[in-house]
Order: sequence, then structure tokens, then C-alpha cells
Amino acid sequence: MGDSGRPVAVVSGGSRGIGAQVVTRLARDGFDVAFCYRADGDAAGHVAKECAALGAEVFVQRVDVTDRQAIERFVRDGEARLGRVRAVVSCAGIVRDNPLPLMTADDWHAVLDVNLTGTYHLCRAAAFRMMKRRTGAIVTLSSVAGVYGNATQANYCATKAGIIGFTRALAKELGPYGVRVNAVAPGLIDTDMVAGLSAERCRALAERIPLGRFGRPDEVADLVAFLVSERAGYITGQSFGVDGGLVL
Ligand code: NAD
Repeated sequence: MGDSGRPVAVVSGGSRGIGAQVVTRLARDGFDVAFCYRADGDAAGHVAKECAALGAEVFVQRVDVTDRQAIERFVRDGEARLGRVRAVVSCAGIVRDNPLPLMTADDWHAVLDVNLTGTYHLCRAAAFRMMKRRTGAIVTLSSVAGVYGNATQANYCATKAGIIGFTRALAKELGPYGVRVNAVAPGLIDTDMVAGLSAERCRALAERIPLGRFGRPDEVADLVAFLVSERAGYITGQSFGVDGGLVL
């Protein structure tokens, strides 16, 4: 709890897309929120204003999740400003698609560094704080691509599969300390991450989705909000699809 008496959440990648919806949804649910982002301070400022309008205290920093020390400072300063962390959501993620023969070492490491190592950095910075208090919830962002694979995304799929293993390991490790850890695995969600797809490709992909459309970031945020809430008090170590039935 912070000084305001509201629980505190820490979110990475909160300036846009799924992360931005997670931040505002948690603010609406009564959290004060610390969030970081990599670029686009205007977008981050807009999200922060929305939260303030919802009555939430916000702590916003431009911090790269690949920088372990900076993430540790961000979590420490976020707690100092808002109060004890009760929820952590690791949303920051990137893609660098290429067929394997064309996938450079840079493409490979950039995606591993942000998606997988960044998730480790954020969780490591916050986990012990929650363990000591014997309460808390972590949500990681996997993807259907991590479960089923996607051509030209070997790097991305490796990270998203890795996040599921990481989540399960952490659930076993932190469960005895009252901290729950779950993953969400979105399908195709309408954010900047998929903005590069042509209209024709989007139509073809939507045809493969039983619900007939891409998801909205707020539909992922709804699940995240449930998983960090006490209503999910007996759920840990799971991975939940939010994909309109894409994988059926
Ligand atoms: P997005 O590109 O719209 O937003 C990504 C966010 O991550 C931004 O706020 C950006 O600033 C932040 N970010 C990127 N690199 C960072 C870094 N190094 N340090 C700090 N912040 C960084 O993406 P999105 O679609 O909202 O995706 C959010 C998460 O959901 C990602 O982990 C993504 O892999 C996952 N996901 C997305 C989809 C989809 O279809 N959009 C599907 C499955 C999983």
C-alpha cells in the first residue's frame, strides 16, 4: 500500500499498446502505478494524465528494461514515491522478424535482451520486496507465438516460450511466500507491434480467427487486471490465451 492507501503496481512498457491499457485499467481499479517506457515521452505523458484523472498517483520514467541497474533504481524510486509494490506487469517487448538465415546476431540478441532479460530484470527488482511482505502478483507477457511458433519469428518465439518457463519456475519459487505469478499469451492484438502488417494480410489473418477480428489492448488488460486482483487468489503458474480462438 502507498501513503494514499491504494495498492501499487509497477508496469514496464506502459506508454502505449497493451502496457498503456494495463496502466490505465489498474489506475481505474484503484492502483497507484509506476511505469517505464523506452521512447515517446508524449505518449507516456498522455497515459500519466489519464491515470491522474482517474485519481491515481503515477510515477513515470524513461527506463530501458535491458539496463538492470536502471530498472532496480526505477522500482526502488517507484516504491519510495508511491509505496510498497503489490503488482508487477512486464509488458515491454519488441519484434525483429526475419527468416533464420537472414536473422542477424543483433536481431537475435536485441529481442532476447528486451523480452526475456528485461522480464528477468523487472521481476528480480520487485520479487524480494513482495516476498518479504508475503503478498503480491506478477503477470508476464508471453504470446501464442511462444506456444505454437511463428515463421520468421524464431527470436521472438524463443523469448515468449522462455517467459512461460520463467513464469512457472517463479510461481513455484514465490508461491510459498504468497506471491502469485502468471503469464498471458495474447494472439493478434491491434497495437503498433502489428501496425506493419498490410491491410490484405490483416484481413487474411482475421479470417483465421474464430471471433473474426484482432483483439483490443484493453481486452488483454482486463485479464491482467483480474490476474493481479484478489479474485485470482488461487491462480498461479498458468498461461492464459487471449486470442479470439486463433489457436483452435
Ligand atoms: P507496443 O509496441 O505497442 O508497445 C511496447 C511497449 O514496450 C512500449 O511502451 C515501449 O516503449 C516498451 N518498450 C519496448 N522496448 C523497451 C525497452 N527496451 N525498455 C522499456 N520499454 C520498452 O507493443 P504491444 O503490442 O503493446 O506489446 C506489449 C507486450 O505484449 C509485448 O511483450 C508483446 O510481445 C506482447 N504481445 C503483443 C501482441 C500483439 O499482437 N500486439 C501479441 C502477443 C504478445
